[in-house]
Amino acid sequence: MSAESQTPNQNWTQCYLGLGSNLANELGTPIEHLTRGIAKLKANSQIRNLVASSFYGSIPMGPQDQPDFVNAVVGFETNLTPIALLDVCQALETDARRERLRHWGERSLDVDVLLFGDQEIHEPRLIVPHLGITERNFVLVPLIEIAPNLIINGTPISSYPESQNLSGIHRICDADQRGKL
Ligand code: AMP
Repeated sequence: MSAESQTPNQNWTQCYLGLGSNLANELGTPIEHLTRGIAKLKANSQIRNLVASSFYGSIPMGPQDQPDFVNAVVGFETNLTPIALLDVCQALETDARRERLRHWGERSLDVDVLLFGDQEIHEPRLIVPHLGITERNFVLVPLIEIAPNLIINGTPISSYPESQNLSGIHRICDADQRGKL
């Protein structure tokens, strides 16, 4: 049977992705990279009910001689498999002409799979929940904004101190205003 004639998977799973950018290029600014990435996710027929957080500015986690990041998270239901969703994320990075300059360095677009339902995945290409998710305020602050009752690794998101820690990050704009920037 060809891939096209296969019945699509009807199981829809609630997922969360983290997006970050701190490098402008010929395709746009960091805010534009995130906005374009979210628009492409929304246009994917295997993704529905997408909700985006506000955009946040954050100081870089790795080398400090790089611009601040713009971060956001999105939540949606998908009938993609986890690996197929990772492929979608990596295609968004490629579309933004991401180059690997240095570890934890500047990038036009980074898209990570934060959570895939309540699944724990340990594959060579994909670890979910994303490692470090519960220690990063630039992930948990936007995430609690769109999913205040989320359970991560068996613990409510509000119980993780980084979900309440605003040091080093600031809200740039509401989700519904960012398209006007
Ligand atoms: P990064 O430098 O953050 O873009 O890391 C990309 C690498 O992490 C790729 O080789 C992915 O296969 C791998 N990876 C493992 N788990 C995840 C995840 N949950 N989301 C995105 N990439 C992941």
